[in-house]
Amino acid sequence: MTTGAANTVSGRLVLEDRVAGGRITIEDGRIAAIDLDDEPAANGPYLAPGFVDVHVHGWGGHDAMGDPDALDGMARQLLRHGVTSFLPTALTAPIGALVAFAERVRTWLPDAPADGAEPLGFNLEGPFLAAARRGAHDPTHLQVPAGVPRRTLEPLIDGLRLLTIAPELAGATDLIRWLRDRGVATSIGHSAATIEEAQAGYDVGGTSTTHLFNAMSGVDHRAPGVAVAALLDDAAYVELIADKIHVHPALWPLITRLKPPDRLLLVSDAIALAGMGDGRGWVGGLEVEVVGQRVTLAGTSTLAGSVIALDTAVRNVAASGVPLPAAVAAASRNPLALLGISDRGRIAAGQRADLVELDPELRVRRVMRAGTWFAADPPG
Ligand SMILES: [Zn+2]
Repeated sequence: MTTGAANTVSGRLVLEDRVAGGRITIEDGRIAAIDLDDEPAANGPYLAPGFVDVHVHGWGGHDAMGDPDALDGMARQLLRHGVTSFLPTALTAPIGALVAFAERVRTWLPDAPADGAEPLGFNLEGPFLAAARRGAHDPTHLQVPAGVPRRTLEPLIDGLRLLTIAPELAGATDLIRWLRDRGVATSIGHSAATIEEAQAGYDVGGTSTTHLFNAMSGVDHRAPGVAVAALLDDAAYVELIADKIHVHPALWPLITRLKPPDRLLLVSDAIALAGMGDGRGWVGGLEVEVVGQRVTLAGTSTLAGSVIALDTAVRNVAASGVPLPAAVAAASRNPLALLGISDRGRIAAGQRADLVELDPELRVRRVMRAGTWFAADPPG
């Protein structure tokens, strides 16, 4: 898609440690050079690394667990919100259905549209979740690691980047080790673990934490659980759904003051109904209802994912007082580091030219994937 000709874009560059006025020269889909201004950045659009969503179930009417057309549609919708890379994420389902999902995504990866967010593999949220903290996952398909032979899981491994697991389940720590040895990161979550059980999960290789505070044992002063273990383990990544509904913003400083800044991950946890307005639909076999920005299992108060994209998450976190470079890193460099990917995610020479141009209110104006600009959804 690139022409080979150099082109230049200027604005306020969101660098790793500061925002600076300057210009980015792009050549052959990569950042060739950065030139910074002498004066402090005053105005002009912000230029940030493209966003990376490692936990997203669908967008704009398209479900990650649907057919290749649905994956195409989801990737295109995400790009229009500044997301340049993502992991299509499955909900808990029968293992046969998860294997079919894995095969569909694998076959689709090389054909994924160039005008969409780039898939980096896939994420499985389940089926090894605690029934007591299953949230919006169908309880009939939950599994215990000790009860599932490894040969049943082998067909899931190729392309699998992240898997959520409740560490207190029988066989969980063995499974975390087994996955780690195969290059798959695990995310502790949907869990009623004690702090000791949670720490055991991180100690054997649990890398991340699925939507911190949601669907987990929390900050109880007599019975500390997963959230406390996650907050106090400097190596553990934590996902935050920053829609201001899943976690009250009053708690966000608990995360940003306790966690090293490179361990925060903004995720959308969006479902297919995102971007579709109010209404009802089916997600993972369960009926859900969208009212405003709130998604619940129909007829209950159980949250069932979000309808935001990472552009909203970055805007919300920055508005809460987190410096823009840290808010952007949580949606770009940090999730890539979790996945061991370093060819993108920073505004630096040699990096892939995946960029988001944001207006002064941090609304996406346009998106560059590998050196080519694409239109954004009109700022809302
Ligand atoms: Zn989810």
